[in-house]
Amino acid sequence: MKITIHRGANQIGGCITEIATENAKIFIDFGSNLLGSKKNELSPKKIADLTSEADAIFYTHYHGDHVGLHHLIPENVKQYMGAGAIEVMQCKYQTLSKYQDMRAELAATERMIPFKPTDCININNELLVTPYFVSHSAFDAYMFVVEDKKTKTKILHTGDFHSHGYLGKGLFPVLNKFVGNVDILITEGTMLAREQEEVITESQIMQKTIEILKAHKYVFALCSSTDIDRLASFHVACKETKRVFFVDEYQNNVLQVFTKYAGTKTNLYNFDTTFQLINFAAEKVKNKLTKKGFLMPIRSSSEKLIKAMMNVYNDEQPWLIYSMWSGYTEENKEYTNQDIINIRKLFGTRIYDGVKCQVHTSGHADVKTLYELCKAVNPSIGVIPIHKDANTNYVAEGYRVFTEGDTKVGDRIIHIE
Ligand SMILES: [Zn+2]
Ligand SMILES: [Zn+2]
Repeated sequence: MKITIHRGANQIGGCITEIATENAKIFIDFGSNLLGSKKNELSPKKIADLTSEADAIFYTHYHGDHVGLHHLIPENVKQYMGAGAIEVMQCKYQTLSKYQDMRAELAATERMIPFKPTDCININNELLVTPYFVSHSAFDAYMFVVEDKKTKTKILHTGDFHSHGYLGKGLFPVLNKFVGNVDILITEGTMLAREQEEVITESQIMQKTIEILKAHKYVFALCSSTDIDRLASFHVACKETKRVFFVDEYQNNVLQVFTKYAGTKTNLYNFDTTFQLINFAAEKVKNKLTKKGFLMPIRSSSEKLIKAMMNVYNDEQPWLIYSMWSGYTEENKEYTNQDIINIRKLFGTRIYDGVKCQVHTSGHADVKTLYELCKAVNPSIGVIPIHKDANTNYVAEGYRVFTEGDTKVGDRIIHIE
């Protein structure tokens, strides 16, 4: 059996992991490099070369750094993902297709095969792959247990995860009940570089948003349009304060997918009191929003809309909840996002700013959780950390940690690029 980390061992994003036996070959994630990365992206030919003999690709979740190259995978290769995640991707591509050619992406998501959590998928009788739900800033995200029948090797690939979201407390019970001890742990390590970052829970963000909405009538919230927890925090805060949860068509479509898949299990994810933007300047709409106030989730592309709304809703000063990673706002970095900086400028100092104002928290496990996870699954062979900065180290006392190069362990080869 051979595990190859093609990408991700020394960068956040662009995750590609291959697990191959004599007659079975799968990939977990096939992500693109993060936006602004100076590294060259894989060519379509290279992608076809890597995957044309593969049996299947399994995606942990829909963030581009895990799924971004899916439309370049040859059609004969089966691609698996959570059913709700597939629908969210379709929403996104349908919206983007109004502005650019998205036919390849839409066709590839159309072909994707939904898996069911805890249902095992057998690959040529050699590899068994079982998805388990994890909490992350993406909806319908999974970790995978992969078992190689011949060498009797059990691998856990975590994908991106955290334990401070609304469903994060389910992580360790799931590990104990379904996963147990493994041989190899492939884990994300995003927060290794941000060890000092305070971990705020999603419930704290909800409470903070309630406070904000009590104090201000017009609030825009710059956040990920597909982070179910964050949107639930804002939605519930609106209900509590009787503000209008005001969303555009695309956001509304995403919320409907959330409600369809998760809203029946918990009321928290039932987005039943949204008000969809059609014409914010229409008299009736204006009367309603001026009277009740609103929170509106917005994206980096929303600058024009915000400006136009500010002209109509001008009886009170609008505030911004900046509910994203602070890195985007730093000038002259490869991850700087000018659109975001421009939006922030519209609000001057009227900004509740990220983690420090308790309106954002990372979608990734804090360092303590990373090591608790390691202890919980007790990998007998060792740990392969991925999705981490090049200058960070994963150190778990008592466990072997694999870094670049080739290592042979019995019948198994671990190759990290
Ligand atoms: Zn990621
Ligand atoms: Zn992610």
